[in-house]
Amino acid sequence: MFNKKNFYENLVDEMYDGVYFVDAKRCITYWNQAASRITGYSHDEVMGQRCADNILRHVDVDGKNLCIDECPVKKTLNDGVSREMEAFLHHKKGHRVPVLIRTSPIRDENGVITGAVELFSDHTDYELIKQRLAELEKLAYIDELTQLANRRYIEISIEMHLQELKRYGWPFGILFIDIDNFKVINDTKGHIIGDKVLKMLSRTFSGNARPFDFFGRWGGEEFLAIIRNVDLPMLKSIAHRFRMLVEQSFITYNGQNISVTISIGATVGKANDTSKSLIERADKFLYQCKNSGKNCVFVDDI
Ligand code: GH3
Ligand code: MG
Ligand code: MG
Repeated sequence: MFNKKNFYENLVDEMYDGVYFVDAKRCITYWNQAASRITGYSHDEVMGQRCADNILRHVDVDGKNLCIDECPVKKTLNDGVSREMEAFLHHKKGHRVPVLIRTSPIRDENGVITGAVELFSDHTDYELIKQRLAELEKLAYIDELTQLANRRYIEISIEMHLQELKRYGWPFGILFIDIDNFKVINDTKGHIIGDKVLKMLSRTFSGNARPFDFFGRWGGEEFLAIIRNVDLPMLKSIAHRFRMLVEQSFITYNGQNISVTISIGATVGKANDTSKSLIERADKFLYQCKNSGKNCVFVDDI
């Protein structure tokens, strides 16, 4: 049978934010799991204690101890007004944890205040942590041979650009690039030379891209570029420029110049695209290039 009390208790217990209840005497009557996680104090350590006994020792930005005179829970118990403020609570291990506190009164059926609830969310500077994580993640998103973004990163970026397109209408296009007859290079000159060609091409791509566009290695001898803020004619001319630049790039091996050509399928993102539909469209255009003699560009015609 549905038990309403258990249902709400479980719900609050599972919440991401810390929650505790006090009665009119400021004795703690409830302490959820997140409260334990954020403060380091277990349920058993705080239940029945008075928050006025200064367990949490909240201080405000000026270092003023809130639990003595300025306690937001006490104020809410007195006047029934909900409050919100930034504070720093004491963690059991000794350090301070930045939190955003919200207090609300609890009333009985006659409207009399019988207690209060404090909700506190961990306000740690996740931006800074995110930045540090991003640096680490970068390592996981780089293709070792070419030092370009790898496929994982490209997929995430396409997702992000599709979201921006849908939400803000910011246009972008992609170039799906495949080296023509690359197998011949490997077969006639060897894999090491093949790798050198891949590196040379990658430098041609990244060295000539606008700062806000980027090229990644999709896999093997396939690359994918994300070109921001373009319409079709512009995307087409960018694609042609890279096709020409690759044709004009070469490495020298045994006194011989080795160069390759590329085929490019280019398309712009549409509001109803998924990353799959977008890439498939570009791949289809790439296939058309391969069927019409290679070393060329195919773009949407709408
Ligand atoms: P197409 O013009 O139809 O694209 O012909 P292709 O020979 O380029 O295409 P195919 O897919 O038949 O061959 C791609 C070749 O790319 C096969 C593989 O030997 C080579 N390749 C893929 N990854 C690497 C790599 O990391 N290093 C080297 N050296 N070669 C690679
Ligand atoms: Mg290929
Ligand atoms: Mg190829």
